[in-house]
Amino acid sequence: MGHVIRHTSVEDTETARMRFCEDYAEEYNYESDGGGGCTPEAEYRSIDWRRHLVFDSYDKADEYLNQFDGRYVDVAVLYADTSNVEPVPSRLKTIDARLGKARDRWEKAVDAANPVKDGKTFHTCPYCKSRISLKHLSLTVSFYAPDGTRREIHSQCPVCRHTLLSETACKRIDTAAENMRGIVKDRNRLFEEARAKAADKAPRVWLVKTEYHC
Ligand SMILES: [Zn+2]
Repeated sequence: MGHVIRHTSVEDTETARMRFCEDYAEEYNYESDGGGGCTPEAEYRSIDWRRHLVFDSYDKADEYLNQFDGRYVDVAVLYADTSNVEPVPSRLKTIDARLGKARDRWEKAVDAANPVKDGKTFHTCPYCKSRISLKHLSLTVSFYAPDGTRREIHSQCPVCRHTLLSETACKRIDTAAENMRGIVKDRNRLFEEARAKAADKAPRVWLVKTEYHC
């Protein structure tokens, strides 16, 4: 309910019509209030299909359509759908191996920072001086690697909530993350290059921007 702005990918105008009418009828509650005099079909007919505009990626088409958001103008453009295109397998394999090693290093750095270690059951918080039983630590902190890998460790004092991580340990995690970030960037670039190359022959898909109040 409210102000709806959609950017929807559809393969053809018939699918677009069906999807639009279904969404519109559902959100407008068309069945019960009659749609305020405006039928889904009539709303659909107001879409400006700009066949001459073909973008070489979804992102570029999406960015173009952003300018119409909030203006109640419904516009559709075409883009080359390269979402299934992947880089040359050997190059992808090489970079994935590099990323895997970097991820291992990051995970090891996070694990090494964990104050809960073998043989150590108590820890004195350097801030509030509480003696904490590491066995019963329930507060966890999540770490996210640049590729989305998540790791949770007990690293918060349950009394003062200060982090129990040492500065050195944090620096090691940062360095490992920075290393990963570079590889993730290289990997994304590989995909971008492969997709840009394949754009000419890729199937054309409509991106339809629609907007209405319901
Ligand atoms: Zn504390």
